[in-house]
Formats: sequence, C-alpha cells, structure tokens
Amino acid sequence: MTKILDGKLVAKSIKEQIKEEVTLLIQAGEKVKLAIVSVGDDPASKIYIRNKVKAAEKVGIEAIVFELPSTYQEESLILDICDLNKRDDIDGIIVQLPLPKHINSEKVQEAISMTKDVDVFCKENVGLLVQNRAKLLPCTPAGIVELMNFYNIDVWGKNVCIIGYSNIVGKPLSIILSNKGATVTTCNSKTKNLALHTKCSDIVIVATGVGHLIDSSHLKDGAIVIDVGITRLDHGKIIGDVNFDDVYDKVSYISPVPGGVGPMTVAMLLKNTLLAHNERKKRLKK
Ligand code: NAD
Repeated sequence: MTKILDGKLVAKSIKEQIKEEVTLLIQAGEKVKLAIVSVGDDPASKIYIRNKVKAAEKVGIEAIVFELPSTYQEESLILDICDLNKRDDIDGIIVQLPLPKHINSEKVQEAISMTKDVDVFCKENVGLLVQNRAKLLPCTPAGIVELMNFYNIDVWGKNVCIIGYSNIVGKPLSIILSNKGATVTTCNSKTKNLALHTKCSDIVIVATGVGHLIDSSHLKDGAIVIDVGITRLDHGKIIGDVNFDDVYDKVSYISPVPGGVGPMTVAMLLKNTLLAHNERKKRLKK
C-alpha cells in the first residue's frame, strides 16, 4: 500500500505547535516579527509573499512587508537590510527572490545578519550547516527532513539520490542527509543515465523544476519518493518533477504536488523565525 507524505497535514500540526508557543510569548508581552523585503512587481513573488504573511499571522507572528520599487538600487537595499539587522524588534529577515537583474542577490543576502537569516542563505550559516552545528536549517530541506521524521522515515544507512543541486534545495539537503548517516548521490542536468543512480536508491528526492522528469522506470520497487518540483502548465495546473500516477503503485511513500513539500517550506520559515526569536532572547540574557 502506497502512503502519501501529506505535507499539508504535517505542516498544520507544526504550525499549531508554533502557534501555542507564540501565544505564550505574546501573553508574556513579547512579539515575534518577520521582515519580508520585496523589490519590484513580480506577480508570483506577490503571491508567495501574501501566503507567507497569511501563514505568519495565523500563528501570531507579525510579518512586515517592505515593498520597494523595481528601480531601487542595490546600495540602498543593503543599507535598509543593515537597519533591519540593528532593529531589536525584528527576529527574522527574508528577501523575496528573484530580485531585479541590476541587483546582486547574493550580495544582498550576505548583508542579512546570520542571526536573522531565517532563509539560511548566508555563508556563515551554510558553514555551520556543513559542520553539523547549524541552529537554523534552510526552509525547504528542513521541511523535507520534518516530513520524513513525521512518517518515521530514517535515512541512516539508506541510499538517497537527490536530483537537483541548487543552493536552496539539493546542495544543503545533501549535506543535511549525509550528516544524518545517509549515503547520498547528487545528480544534476549534466548527469548521464539518471536512472542508473535513481534505480539503486531507497529514497529519491527530486528538485529540478523539470515537470514529470521521473517515472516508474527510474525507481526500484518500494522506493520512497519526495517531489519538490513545481511546474505551472499553460492552463494553470501545477505538476511536480515526478509522474505521480505512473509511479504510485511502485513506491512505498510519495509526496504529492501540490500539498507535499510546499506547505512544509512555509511552516519551516515560521519555525526558523520563532527559533531566531528565542536565540535572540538567550543572547540578551547573557
Ligand atoms: P534551480 O533551477 O536552482 O536548480 C535546478 C537543479 O536541477 C540544478 O541543479 C540542475 O542541474 C538540475 N536539473 C535541471 N534539469 C535536470 C535534469 N534534466 N536532470 C537532472 N537534473 C536537472 O532550482 P531550485 O531553486 O532548486 O528549484 C527546483 C524546483 O523545486 C523548482 O521547480 C522550484 O519551483 C521547486 N521548489 C519548490 C519549493 C517548495 O517549497 N515546494 C522550494 C524551492 C524550490
């Protein structure tokens, strides 16, 4: 019997726990605040921001959106971030990507203080991740780990194939799972004979954005499949990187798209903001 890795359900339970904790903090006179910086008018970004604000508000986290025009200059943006770094009332800062082409997004993200870097992109936090000392984990990889934890999927000693090697998903996930004792193979667009790697894997995690890249011929019987990809078709339907219907009978667990990793990513952003708040309080007490 194939089981669905229900990200909506797991995210809901994580958000309920966050809400309980935030409610106690509010009762104690504290506020948990997330700053979301947005530059330009990218319509998809507007939707993502709206969803993040809604999700934050539902658990009692205050999300403040700084909307800046598409002509805004890199230097001014970096100065704004430095101001947010200094503000005592802000726990987490995220910069919504993509930024307009004239702005170097890496430079901007590097400007975020490591203690407020709730997306976990800055080099200090990535360094801690590599050393298995990170307090905050990047949201999508963290969401995948929590999803597997919820369904008691242990990666220790397992062969895991991660397809996609981006800084946001595949690369940090390969480090996190290696730190947890998995034998990780990473694949990318240059990989020759993808099926050679996926077919011998107990767990296959796909994050490419190439809709329906993986079908049943890529998988061994009983494999666990986690689909991170999001491809919006012309008529608006969203599909993942895995051909869900084709692989369903062959796999033991599969995460759907939508309703799998997506909701987990947002829940992890809220979790990181709460963690950043608690860490900041600890530092103030010292
Ligand atoms: P990216 O474009 O930065 O990286 C894509 C990776 O896939 C690259 O390493 C590339 O080499 C690899 N790739 C591309 N074509 C391939 C192929 N044919 N075979 C093997 N590897 C191939 O993308 P990203 O930011 O990591 O996002 C990947 C997908 O995951 C996108 O669809 C994105 O929308 C989605 N995503 C979803 C969430 C979520 O919360 N659900 C979060 C982040 C990204």
